[in-house]
Amino acid sequence: MNKFFGDLHVLKDINLEVPKGQVVVVLGPSGSGKSTLCRAINRLEPINSGEIEVDGQPLPAEGKALAALRAEVGMVFQSFNLFAHKTIVENVMLAPVKVRKVGQDEARKTAMQLLDRVGIANQAQKYPAQLSGGQQQRAAIARALAMKPKVMLFDEPTSALDPEMVQEVLDTMTGLAKEGMTMLVVTHEMGFARRAANRVVFMSDGEIVEDASPDEFFTKPKSDRAKDFLGKIL
Ligand code: ADP
Ligand code: MG
Repeated sequence: MNKFFGDLHVLKDINLEVPKGQVVVVLGPSGSGKSTLCRAINRLEPINSGEIEVDGQPLPAEGKALAALRAEVGMVFQSFNLFAHKTIVENVMLAPVKVRKVGQDEARKTAMQLLDRVGIANQAQKYPAQLSGGQQQRAAIARALAMKPKVMLFDEPTSALDPEMVQEVLDTMTGLAKEGMTMLVVTHEMGFARRAANRVVFMSDGEIVEDASPDEFFTKPKSDRAKDFLGKIL
């Protein structure tokens, strides 16, 4: 796929497949196009050329069919974007009730199971502002999971957190990975990339420069750009 912002070519012939059950970590310097890629996958950003498929189905450009397939893709951003005037459990119930027409009781039950899975069932009746950043991000993950997505996209989910809260969110994500969730994760957490990723995709200037196993990428990066990047962060 290709994507331009005006004259700026931000995604250059990106060809990326995330096979079922794989965890692909996207690394790269700021401005390399990682967030645009995440948004483009969901068509939150229009692309200029190329195709997007979810579970083998082409993602249509608009309309009801787009909404239906988009519901298969869970997204978690740096900012949690929880509804401030709804409790945590209500936040998790919202999309299943509105979009999937799940009944209140069933939605609540599923929401509580998901909150339990991310370790914050005891926070269910609180409002987002009453939770720590790490708890809010785990609630955001539960909210995304409530739609039973086929794939989860994470765009720097721990970047806005205080350091002591990063690990609890990474642990939640590692748990999901172990359960076999298909995941595309943009992160600067190299420990997570090493431990949880099946593949590392390194982006620079809108291109995929390397696509390798974590071991290969961290020990034998091929490109100068990857070596330079690793030199700065490790
Ligand atoms: P990353 O997430 O890797 O830091 P981004 O995808 O946010 O990179 O940005 C890639 C490039 O696209 C950057 O040069 C950025 O300035 C530019 N960009 C991102 N969003 C927009 C936008 N809405 N309008 C114009 N340029 C944008
Ligand atoms: Mg970004």
